[in-house]
Amino acid sequence: MKQKLPLLILAVFVVGALAVGLVSTFHGTNEPVETDFFAMDTLMGVQVYSRNADADGYAVQTCIGALEKELSVTIETSEIAQLNRDGHAVLTGDVQALLQRTIALSARTGGALDPTMYSIVRLWGFTTGSYRVPDGDEIAAALETVGTAHITLGENGDTALLGGAQIDFGAVAKGYAAQQSADLLAARGVTAAILSLGGNVQTVGSRPDGNDWVIGIRDPADEAQMIGKLSVSGSAAIVTSGGYQRYFEENGVTYQHIMDPATGAPVKSGLSSVTIVAQDGFLADGLSTALYVMGLDKATAFWRDSDDFEAVLITDDGDAYVTEGLAGRYVCADGFTVVTR
Ligand code: ADP
Ligand code: MG
Repeated sequence: MKQKLPLLILAVFVVGALAVGLVSTFHGTNEPVETDFFAMDTLMGVQVYSRNADADGYAVQTCIGALEKELSVTIETSEIAQLNRDGHAVLTGDVQALLQRTIALSARTGGALDPTMYSIVRLWGFTTGSYRVPDGDEIAAALETVGTAHITLGENGDTALLGGAQIDFGAVAKGYAAQQSADLLAARGVTAAILSLGGNVQTVGSRPDGNDWVIGIRDPADEAQMIGKLSVSGSAAIVTSGGYQRYFEENGVTYQHIMDPATGAPVKSGLSSVTIVAQDGFLADGLSTALYVMGLDKATAFWRDSDDFEAVLITDDGDAYVTEGLAGRYVCADGFTVVTR
């Protein structure tokens, strides 16, 4: 794992002036309480501004732990691992919802996001950490089982038949979990919180001091640095996908963990990171992976055809392209190009 855990804590940094004054109806506190824990192969942190912040943070930890047990392909008892093993299963709750939504988003992204990439992801060793470069025949054989057309869902999505495919929620599980957690906090009456689940940030409500949330965007060329800052008001999902988040090297070549469904090999799209801002965590996570696969031109065309997200796209050369809805919200030292409709 190439994730540098202490650095992940820096993924979210909140700046701003001190509170000007407490709003009389505000039910929380001005100082957040941070709960950190490890789940879904990632160090996660939740900052809650509330009088019950410890219990609220613990509730999020419990929620994500329960989701991981359902959604992780490497936990043998998970519903998804059983589905992969048996090739068919009765689906319940989150797995049912997530599979339906992921298949739909796969179709919307022209297959750039594809939950059946698991056979390829496994072939390259990304699930176990036993990394290897497979040969062309192995990749061709694994690609035979790729594509959501292999999957047959029952009428309500409550059963699935895989038809030889293998499924992985790696590209969407953290976003789905972040959204569930945000909804849970809101239901518990929390009016201000920020969650950082690896590259997935989710804000809940507004900062007590009235300032925007400010989220650092990591420099893909140097994980220790931030390349820019994004300010967000209110509840939102801010999700970054980048090859630098997980990779291995062999004979001087770097192989990263986001796979191109067209080739069965790590994506080489000319992008080094994609950040999506959307109202929903699942959507933002799925799209951050999909637009990374698409590359700059297809990604900006896709954005022009959509109305439910904004994006910051960083190229391999370090150039930033920012969709117009975020133009006034992105700050970086080197300037950026605004992508217009
Ligand atoms: P991260 O998990 O680092 O936040 P992503 O959300 O981009 O990154 O998800 C990448 C993960 O999704 C990979 O580790 C793998 O499990 C899976 N995956 C890789 N390529 C694809 C793809 N084209 N479509 C769907 N899932 C993918
Ligand atoms: Mg993703």
